[in-house]
Parts: sequence; structure tokens; C-alpha cells
Amino acid sequence: MDSKVSALPLSGFWTWDHSTNWSADVTKVESGCFNRYAKTPESFLEDYRLLMDAMSAQGIGWLIIWGLLRDSHGGEGAAHELLRLARERGVRVLAGVGVNAYGGVYWEGDHPWNLGTWLRKNPALRAARRKSLMPNSCGRDIACPSKEENIAWARQAVQWLLTRFDVAGMNLETGDYGLCGCDDCRRACGDREAPCAFEDMARVLPPVIDAACAVRPEAVITYATYAPFDSALARTPPAFARTIAPQAVCQWTLTPMAGPAPDGWPEGLRPPTARNVGFSHWGSQWTAPNTRHALIIEHIRNLCRRGARSGLEGIFIHGEVSPEYSFAWRLNYAAFAHFLRRPQDSLEDFAATLGALFGGEEEAVVAVRWLTEPTDSPTLQARIAESLRRHERHAALPHRPWDQVARMLWARTL
Ligand SMILES: [Zn+2]
Repeated sequence: MDSKVSALPLSGFWTWDHSTNWSADVTKVESGCFNRYAKTPESFLEDYRLLMDAMSAQGIGWLIIWGLLRDSHGGEGAAHELLRLARERGVRVLAGVGVNAYGGVYWEGDHPWNLGTWLRKNPALRAARRKSLMPNSCGRDIACPSKEENIAWARQAVQWLLTRFDVAGMNLETGDYGLCGCDDCRRACGDREAPCAFEDMARVLPPVIDAACAVRPEAVITYATYAPFDSALARTPPAFARTIAPQAVCQWTLTPMAGPAPDGWPEGLRPPTARNVGFSHWGSQWTAPNTRHALIIEHIRNLCRRGARSGLEGIFIHGEVSPEYSFAWRLNYAAFAHFLRRPQDSLEDFAATLGALFGGEEEAVVAVRWLTEPTDSPTLQARIAESLRRHERHAALPHRPWDQVARMLWARTL
């Protein structure tokens, strides 16, 4: 296989605007979903410029941005500028777009294509929610999927986005924080308690995707299932696999399939949909325990190897943490770039490419082995201690890879 060509070409990073921390801005939101934007508009562009510089350097092509359009970091003007920076760097942006949820096309602001704005003007079109754990409030509105007016509005909204902005496409979500329980929805789908449902995807996404393709046939439209794929789905495909246009790309949640104990992903199992990518939350605040700052190179290798064998077109992981402030992410990003091109490689194959970072190929292989295998041998403890003492002597030198490896191991072995 040509190592310059990705085996998983539709791969990249998933990000929320508020917790993407690549710039030197000291405000660093680390968790949360419906957060207000806490930084300056300048930091919004700088965070993403630095991320896209890195993507360009590593040859990673796709970037999902939730919160691309938001009043508090510059609205439409800032989005146009971000997309110009993306175009310069060869990065293709998929705008995060909620359908009946997650703010619609325009995440936050008093804007015609913001879902909250729409529902304030048309309160009869809101979802009827049984529980008020997440009331209809900033960013948390839900529109009833049975109301034709909501679908017509969503169709117009995505056409506005795709004709006005230089995005490569969209990453659609239908919401995972509540369903409508109105009489119309109960007649269509029965009584439901789940936070999200395949039935709503099957009836809501086709007209929205068709509207998008009508104005931008080449646009890449991905849509989230919030769920993994398994043998049962492969045998009995859900209705959305029949109703959604086959050129749209189904985004499966790989988190439970390839977690710390990846037994939920039979080798070579294919999803029931024509085009597919996978998204993992490991390495983010969305796992328990929180792994936002964890080293996940073995997980990344596993995702890419299994994803390629299952016929996925791409893998998405989080891209919110800067490698400038995280040695773990320096390695995670390097691993992602490597295994996207060579998904069958071993960790040692990858480690051997890190010679420049660790002062030699052999040293790099040893370092990666230390980081990914049990580390309770007395010899190893002695070497860690030695490295830590060296670090104390050279504390003025930041980002010394060997010392950082030692510190990470020390923390784990204690
Ligand atoms: Zn309803």
C-alpha cells in the first residue's frame, strides 16, 4: 500500500468550538456541551488556524466543527474567514448541523436559521417533552419531527448554509437529549423513552439530505446514529438504511465497539449502510473515566485497523487538545496520521517513525513499549527514577520527550 495515500480517506477530527484549545488563550473550557463561548472571536480563529495547520502538515483532510456559526465569536463573518483559512490549507470542513435539535444550522444567536429563534416565533412547533431535565432553553430546544413546517424550515436552512458558505458538507445530528411525545409522534412511532431514535432519523433526514444535495450535489453529508453497529443491525438493517440517500455517509459511534476491551467489534463486520465512517469518543471528556488527556495510541491503531477491515471510509477522533500543551496528544496525533495510512502496522512500526522525537529509533520503540505495556519491573522503575532526576537537572528545558515519558509512567506506576 502506498503509505502516502490514506486507507481511510474520509477521516479527521470532531470538535466543539468552545473546547477546542490550540491557541495561547488562557481560557480553556475542558468539558460540557451547551456551553457559552468563553473566549474572544480572535481566539476562535486562532484555535482553528493552528489545528488546521497541523492537519495540513499531517495530511489529515476532514474537520467537523460544531458551533461554526455563533454570534459570540463573530457570526457569519468569522465563519467565512475560518473557511478561507481551511481552503488555504486543504482542509475540508463539515459544519455540525442539528436537525430538530442542537440549534439547527446557526448554533447560537438571534438568527433566522437558529432553531431557538424559529421556535420562539413558532411555539406550537416545539417538541412535547415529558421530562424537563433539559428544558427548552439556549441550545437545548427540540422541534417536533412530525410537523411539516419544521422539515421545510430545516430544508431551507441547509440550502442557505450550503449556498452561502464554502463548507465541504455537513455532519448532521437529530439530537440525543430527548424525543417528542406529541400525539402525532406517538401515532408515527409509539411511546418512547429513549433520548434518541432511529425512527426519527428515518423520517426526518431524507428530505433534509435531498434538499442539501439539490443545491450542492458534491457535498459530503454525514449523519450520526449515536449508536454502534453490530451483527443484529447487519442482519436486520434499520429503516433509515433504506430511506436515506445512499450517497450520504452514516457515522457510527465506535466508542463502545473499540473501548479499553474491544470485544464488541467482530473482525470485518460491515455496517448495514452503503457509505460509513466511525467516530470514537475515547481521548475526550465524553468517556468514563474522562480520557481527554490520555495517551490513546493503541486505541487509535485498533480503530484504524478494524475500521479498514470493516470497509469504513474514515475514522473521526477528537481534535480539541493542542499537542503544544500535551505530550500524550503529540503522540496521539502522530499515531492517527500514521495508522490512517498504514492501518495494518504494529505499534512498533509506528514507534520506529518517532526516532527524531526520542533521539533514535531504538529509543522510540522502547519508549512506546513502556507507555503501552505494564510497567512494574524493578529495572524499569530504576530507569524512570533516573530519567526524573535528569529532568530535575534540566527542568528549564520544556518538552523533553524522554522526561515526559518518564513522568507519565511514574504517575501510572504509582
Ligand atoms: Zn411530535
